[in-house]
Amino acid sequence: MNPFAKLGRAVGAVALGLAVAAPAVWAQDKVLNLYSARHYQTDEALYENFTKATGIRIQRVDADDAGVLARLKSEGSASPADVVLLVDAARLWTAESEGLFQPVKSQLLESRIPATLRGQDSGQGPHWFGMSTRARVIVYDKTRVARADVDTYEELADPKHKGKVCTRSGSHPYNLSLFGSLVEHLGAEKTEQWLKGVVDNMARAPKGGDTDQIRAVASGECAIALTNSYYLARLMRSTKPEDRAVLEKVGVVFPNQSTWGTHVNIAGAAVARHAKNRDAAVAFLEYLAGDAAQRYFADGNNEWPAVASVKVTNPALAALGEFRAETIPVAVAGKNQTRVQQMLDRVGYR
Ligand code: FE
Repeated sequence: MNPFAKLGRAVGAVALGLAVAAPAVWAQDKVLNLYSARHYQTDEALYENFTKATGIRIQRVDADDAGVLARLKSEGSASPADVVLLVDAARLWTAESEGLFQPVKSQLLESRIPATLRGQDSGQGPHWFGMSTRARVIVYDKTRVARADVDTYEELADPKHKGKVCTRSGSHPYNLSLFGSLVEHLGAEKTEQWLKGVVDNMARAPKGGDTDQIRAVASGECAIALTNSYYLARLMRSTKPEDRAVLEKVGVVFPNQSTWGTHVNIAGAAVARHAKNRDAAVAFLEYLAGDAAQRYFADGNNEWPAVASVKVTNPALAALGEFRAETIPVAVAGKNQTRVQQMLDRVGYR
């Protein structure tokens, strides 16, 4: 017999003996493996609080959305991942459709997280839950652009804005999701025309992240740009003189308030398909939907809580004010993303 097989059995027997003899040791050793695309420093306190409340230690693997998905796929059933955190609805949708998650039936999650912010439920519960929301807003140079000229997404493609528009890459998830939502609101044909119009209006080729777009508006390189709300809120809470100067120049608008509402995306959580610690994973999702964790998302990373009853004290979010958000399920962004990518290729939106 293979000596390693024998060794394996012996180790197994010892472990089993320990579990029976000393359950307290087992309980202390409870672990949750978290694969996270959230890279916000303020999340540390969020994780520590869960460990304090439950005794479950969190082991984290950090990567971006694409990196997390690639890792889950390559690890397959051997993956140690229990919970997956991603920062975009289209990516959550993709992971679900690739069979990387498992459904979760939880009365608590269903009562707290609105149906439009969850994955589809085909009877066994949704495969993912939005835990916080962020709006894709328009920022503009107050000295060159009138607010009324940028209060809809449609106007980004208007020839009146030729040479003024900056965006990050069209195929970045934040943009893919926005464009996927436009397909829902405008139809495919009009959305493609719109994308073409945006490309025609560009001040420069797409590059950088959302904060770079805001800074490019302030520096005069562009006059109009798109950003997720929390990047702007982060600048609003900054005390650095250079950030204050950026905000002096830049105006913000929640687009489409008189039509379908501003596009909203989510950061969300799911239980991994091959989770070894399923109970702990569900407990963690329920913890994220709790009042304290929801307030962390708002106060720490300037997102809005997915749970409507949670009150926010963040001064930057208060300053941004109330707005009308679109009401279509965030999952449509995922459904439309392949089509949108093809449109981007056709119109030359890099
Ligand atoms: Fe981000």
